[in-house]
Amino acid sequence: MTQKQKIICVLYDDPIDGYPTSYARNTIPKLQQYPDGQSMPSPKSIDFNPGELLGSISGELGLRKFIENSGHELIVTSDKDSEDSVFDQHLEDASIVISQPFWPAYLTADRINKAPNLKLAITAGIGSDHVDLQSAIDNNLTVCEVTYCNSISVAEHAVMQILALVRNYIPQYKWVVSGGWNISDSVSRSYDIEGMDVGVVAAGRIGVAVLKRMKPFDVNLHYTDRHRLPEEIENQLNLTYHKDVNSLAENCDVISIHCPLHPETEHLFNDALISKMRRGSYIVNTARGKICDKDSITRALESGQLAGYAGDVWFPQPAPNDHTWRTAPNHALTPHTSGTSLSAQARYAAGVREILECWFEGRPIRDEYLIVQNGALAGTGAHSYSAGNTTDGSDQASKFKS
Ligand code: NDP
Repeated sequence: MTQKQKIICVLYDDPIDGYPTSYARNTIPKLQQYPDGQSMPSPKSIDFNPGELLGSISGELGLRKFIENSGHELIVTSDKDSEDSVFDQHLEDASIVISQPFWPAYLTADRINKAPNLKLAITAGIGSDHVDLQSAIDNNLTVCEVTYCNSISVAEHAVMQILALVRNYIPQYKWVVSGGWNISDSVSRSYDIEGMDVGVVAAGRIGVAVLKRMKPFDVNLHYTDRHRLPEEIENQLNLTYHKDVNSLAENCDVISIHCPLHPETEHLFNDALISKMRRGSYIVNTARGKICDKDSITRALESGQLAGYAGDVWFPQPAPNDHTWRTAPNHALTPHTSGTSLSAQARYAAGVREILECWFEGRPIRDEYLIVQNGALAGTGAHSYSAGNTTDGSDQASKFKS
């Protein structure tokens, strides 16, 4: 009989009107595999209907029945940042933490040191920068995420926001809602994207999906990455490769950011880099808020160096109510939603279940899901991250008041 383990699952709150009792659509498409051939999450079974809200506290990622039937205890909470939060109270004797990047339970070195039984941190999604990876390495934790589960979801959101910025969609929508018909107000910042130079920072799963989706708009496509893409893909998409981000910045009108947050990419987009961009450029950041320096972005929007900024990622999360991006001019930001569509939730809930089944049965977790294992970066982590910590300042999330 396996020993009873405590599992803490930190999720975002239910909708303000309560947990949904019905949905806009009856089903979601059943995908067979990811674009590169990677197989879909494959738990032995699931206890939810794909298409339901699983990422909020009542959705519980569809895990309660499975965890309790396996003889373990499940604590689900959204209270992660208050003093003596439910998360902190239970961390002391927890063995597993499950958290979503949208509402991240920051696993700082301090917290890891207070959790002697902690062995496994699962990201229900992609991007494990909310865990102090250096401390996870030093304390021999396993960190894993559900690689590919929401990469296409994010690519769709990024393309939507590129178009929303360049075409100036959000202000036009607001004129309609407020009863106006203000054509010149609406179009005086509106352009065609056709013919523009559009680049991505990082051509991984999301970056390549964005490039593919932008190709039919007849733009000139650019990218930078630590590893160059195969020549075949470069030719297919007619890509211009830039050996560093400076060269990309100088040669694009629109940049979409798709690298993980790790010490190499923290505050990559600062005053110096943004000043190299063409006046009136656009940035879409659906990767991580901290890849951009908050004040540099605000200043560039105010001065007009940036014509627009969008994306869905902030630092910390939830973003404090007085975060300057909320009120900066010409932004089209959303809260961190791109990777948590109902479609994505079904995949990452199944992926978390698969990881837990492996863990409880002592079977290996798929290599592509691993970020840290056995005291080192592993699997996808070894390819896409560098060791170190990017959680500093996460305590500021306590300033958010709903
Ligand atoms: P991948 O691992 O497929 O791609 C990441 C890419 O980033 C890799 O090609 C990697 O290069 C590249 N990279 C790493 N460091 C650098 C660097 N310093 N400069 C340039 N490129 C770099 O991951 P995904 O595409 O699936 O996801 C990317 C990120 O998007 C996640 O880490 C996460 O932060 C974010 N994300 C956001 C979501 C949201 O809801 N907003 C949801 C899902 C992900 P290489 O491997 O060649 O070294």
